[in-house]
Amino acid sequence: MTACAPAAARDDQQPAALTQPAPRRTRQARIVWGDQVVTLGGDAPVRVQAMTNTGTADVMGTAMQVKELAQASSELVRITVDTPEAAAAVPAIREQLDRMGIAVPLIGDFHYNGHRLLTEFPGCAQALSKYRINPGNVGKGDKRDTQFAQMIEAALKWDKPVRIGVNWGSLDQELLARLMDENNRRASPWDARQVMIEALIASAIESAQQAVQMGMAREQIILSCKVSGVQDLIAVYRELARRCDYPLHLGLTEAGMGVKGTVASSAALAILLQEGIGDTIRVSLTPLPGEARTQEVAVALELLQALGLRAFAPSVTACPGCGRTTSSTFQELAQRIDVFLRAQMPVWREKYPGVEQIKVAVMGCIVNGPGESRHADIGISLPGTGEAPAAPVFIDGQKAMTLRGARIAEEFQAIVENYVARRFGAQR
Ligand code: SF4
Repeated sequence: MTACAPAAARDDQQPAALTQPAPRRTRQARIVWGDQVVTLGGDAPVRVQAMTNTGTADVMGTAMQVKELAQASSELVRITVDTPEAAAAVPAIREQLDRMGIAVPLIGDFHYNGHRLLTEFPGCAQALSKYRINPGNVGKGDKRDTQFAQMIEAALKWDKPVRIGVNWGSLDQELLARLMDENNRRASPWDARQVMIEALIASAIESAQQAVQMGMAREQIILSCKVSGVQDLIAVYRELARRCDYPLHLGLTEAGMGVKGTVASSAALAILLQEGIGDTIRVSLTPLPGEARTQEVAVALELLQALGLRAFAPSVTACPGCGRTTSSTFQELAQRIDVFLRAQMPVWREKYPGVEQIKVAVMGCIVNGPGESRHADIGISLPGTGEAPAAPVFIDGQKAMTLRGARIAEEFQAIVENYVARRFGAQR
């Protein structure tokens, strides 16, 4: 066993662990509604998407949920378009959103009958900003190519980008059978998983080639290949990213509920995003009973912020608490500050540009409290068991004051508010 090596002697060399992987270079797509333009890929930030779970024929219910998702910071919202009634409702949903001042682009999710709906309901085709086409669900046999072509023709007619969204739950079975046959003729056949991964990727890339042959610009095409296993998703997207330069939409399909769904999605997406793979993400959470649909957006935002890829809201660093904390005071304060900061963001985002970058620390005792608070822009170290009942506050790395008594929470909140106004108000 070798001993640990000392740090590299050369001053101009960063330790490998500190370097970031180069982002994948992709084409850039534009998703447009009116004056609202959301760029995807290229040098654009990773975008957040969500999907409604209302019946699309319910115009007001769907418009209200789209509004909630958009206000939660979803930059694109997908809606199901599965029936003539749903297709007929799309223009009305768009109009209702425009009346409410919600410019978020709408994506139509089509399966089986998209070719008919996009042809027979031109108002729907026009009101949507992007079409999601699942090549496994556009039709079988001879109809497959014709119906896929009809959807691409609609996209060309209305100048809309498409996402060719493959899903292993609805993989093109004819393509899979073809690849299995090819595999059987190999001297050393691949295992079934490898063939499945190849079928997902081939389905996406061959469909994109078909669209390009019909005249679609490569910049109008986004690809996705969703699976429900973390390791499978990572393997599929690494290979897909290697083989094309289309922007990629990432998501672990059918991720599940609650903690399981959140962790599985985060694990898969974080690894790929860290490798520079992924231009837009969706966290496909099944809401827990009573849970808001916006939870999937909250997880996506936290994930991108935790990876340092985007900043949406000030972050609160709080210690987990342990036997050194005598009460739940610090938990309550951490939660209170977190809720307060998020509640201010709709106003602060306009009033104080850059405020989403700040870091606030709420710590439980002297062990890590002062140190962590100094690392934050503004931090408070509450007293632990046996410590003097005083809470030092640190601002920009320096101890600024000490709070005491029953109103520590209110006073700290006011200090944070003043700090934000002083630091970010001047930038206007
Ligand atoms: S900072 Fe103090 S209270 Fe918080 S986890 Fe560490 S030792 Fe425990």
